[in-house]
Amino acid sequence: MSLEKNLSWEYLKNLADALDSYRIRALIDAKRDILEAGIYSESQYDSILYKMLDEEKLKYTLFNFLKNNSENNLKTLNQFSEISSIDLNKTLSLLELLKNEKLIIAEEIYDKLEGDENNPEKLIFKDFSIKVYEGEISKLKTIYEPVKVIFESKNCSGCGLCAGICPVNCLRIYNGFGKIDEDKCIRCGLCYFVCPRSYLPVKVLNMVQENASEIKDSTKIGYYIEAYSARTKIKEISEICQDGGISSTCIHYLLEKNKIDLAIGAKMSNTLWRPEPFLIKNKEDILLSAGTKYVNNPNLQLLNENELTGKKIAVVGVPCQMQALLKSKIYDIGFSSLNNIEYRIGIFCMESFSYESLLNICKKLDIDINNAKKMDINKGKFFVYTKKGDELNIPIKEISHLAREDCEICYDLTSESADISIGSIGSPSGWNTVLIRTEKGKELYNELIKSKLIESKPIGDVKPGLPLLEKIANSKKTKSKKHINSKLEENKRVPNY
Ligand code: SF4
Ligand code: SF4
Ligand code: SF4
Repeated sequence: MSLEKNLSWEYLKNLADALDSYRIRALIDAKRDILEAGIYSESQYDSILYKMLDEEKLKYTLFNFLKNNSENNLKTLNQFSEISSIDLNKTLSLLELLKNEKLIIAEEIYDKLEGDENNPEKLIFKDFSIKVYEGEISKLKTIYEPVKVIFESKNCSGCGLCAGICPVNCLRIYNGFGKIDEDKCIRCGLCYFVCPRSYLPVKVLNMVQENASEIKDSTKIGYYIEAYSARTKIKEISEICQDGGISSTCIHYLLEKNKIDLAIGAKMSNTLWRPEPFLIKNKEDILLSAGTKYVNNPNLQLLNENELTGKKIAVVGVPCQMQALLKSKIYDIGFSSLNNIEYRIGIFCMESFSYESLLNICKKLDIDINNAKKMDINKGKFFVYTKKGDELNIPIKEISHLAREDCEICYDLTSESADISIGSIGSPSGWNTVLIRTEKGKELYNELIKSKLIESKPIGDVKPGLPLLEKIANSKKTKSKKHINSKLEENKRVPNY
C-alpha cells in the first residue's frame, strides 16, 4: 500500500471508514495475540492487514460513488469499474459486501423467458436497482458475526476454511461440526468473511470461472470448456481407485513434474470410513487418499499448517470446498497458503453423511462397517461392497434423511468452482466424467494425455453422457431451492447465494 500517492481527502475519508471496520480494528488490537498464536508471521500479518485495508477502502469508495449518484444500476457499476480500472466482477463483489453490511439495498431485476413443452420457463438477469443507506455510516456499525451463527443454523458444510485461516487458531471442525474457543477468539470476523455459507456471490463466481466481463446466469453444471470421459493408465491407481482414478492421476502428475509441492486431500483415519484431512506428498500418499469418502471432511482446515508456507498447493475437494476457495480468490485476505493454491480439483458430490449416519446405513444393510470394502452411489442407490465380495444396496430415497442437513441447501453437484471437476455420473463403470473449467484445468488435462497417463474420450462418445449429469445436477439445484425456501418460510437463516 503506497500512502504517498494516495493522500487525497477522499483517500483519508475512506481510510477512516476502513478503520471503523471491526475486521481491521480487531486485527490491529489483537496483533500480539495473533503473532503469539504462530499461524501468521509478522510479514504475513502485515500483508493481511494491508490487504484488508485496501479492500475496505475500495468498498467505501464504491459506497461514496453510489451515494453521489441519483440513480444506481448496472450502468453505474460499469462506470465505477471503468473509473477505478477494476473488472466488473470486482465491483460486484464489493457491492455484495455493502449489501451484507446493510449499507445498500440491491435488487436484481429479471426478464421472464417463456418456456415450451421441452424447455421450462427461465429467468434471465437484466439489471440491478440499487438504493443507498442515507444516514451517517457511523450510526450503522457493522455487526460482528462469527461463523458460530453458521454452525448453529445448520448451514455449515464443514469445508474447514474458517479453521484454516483463523489467526489465533481457536476454531476446529470435527465430524462436520464447528466449535470456537470463545476465550481465545479475537472477534475479527475473518471466518465469516471467507465462509461459503455466509454469503456467496454466485454470479461473480460464474463470471470469474468464465473470465467474463458480463453477468452470467447459472447453468445446470456450471461453465466448462470441454467435457470428457477418462480413466487412468497408472496400474497402482487403477487397482484401488473408485472409478476412473483421474483425480489421483492429476496429483501424481503434478507432484512428479514439481508443479506442486503437496496436495490437500483426505484419507481414512484409524477408524475405518471416518476420513481425516491429509497432506499428500508422494505416490504412497496418493494411494492412501484414493477412493470416495461419504463422510464429510474439513480438508481446508489444513491450510493453517506451517508446513505449507511458501509451498505450491493443489486441493482435492467437494463442491462446497471449491466454492470456499474461489470465494477467497474474489475476497482475497492476503493469506499466503490460500494464494499459493495452484489447482482446484473438484469432485462431484450429491450429499455427505456424518460418521454416525454411515453406521446407521450399514445397520440398515445389516453389515458391520468394518467389513465394508467399498461404498458407492449409483443409479439412485447406495451400494456397500463387502470384503467377502457381497454387494448390498439401499435406495437413496430411503437414506436421504440421514444426509447432513446443510447438504440439503447445497446447489452444486459438479464442483462448478473448480479448475477441473471429476466424478462418475455420465460415464460407464470404471471411467470418470471430467469437466474442464479453466485454462489451467485444460492445460493439466492435456498434459495427462500427452504423458500417456490417461485414456480419454469425448463425453459425447459415451453413454449415458452429459444428459444424465445435467438432469441430476438440475434436480440438486431444484431441491436446494426448495429447502432454502422452506427454511425461509420458517424464518431460519440461509446462506446468501
Ligand atoms: S462452511 Fe466452511 S467456512 Fe463456513 S462455517 Fe462451515 S467449515 Fe467454516
Ligand atoms: S473464530 Fe473467527 S472471529 Fe474468532 S478469531 Fe477466529 S477467525 Fe476471528
Ligand atoms: S452436498 Fe454440498 S455441502 Fe454437502 S458435502 Fe457435498 S458439496 Fe459439501
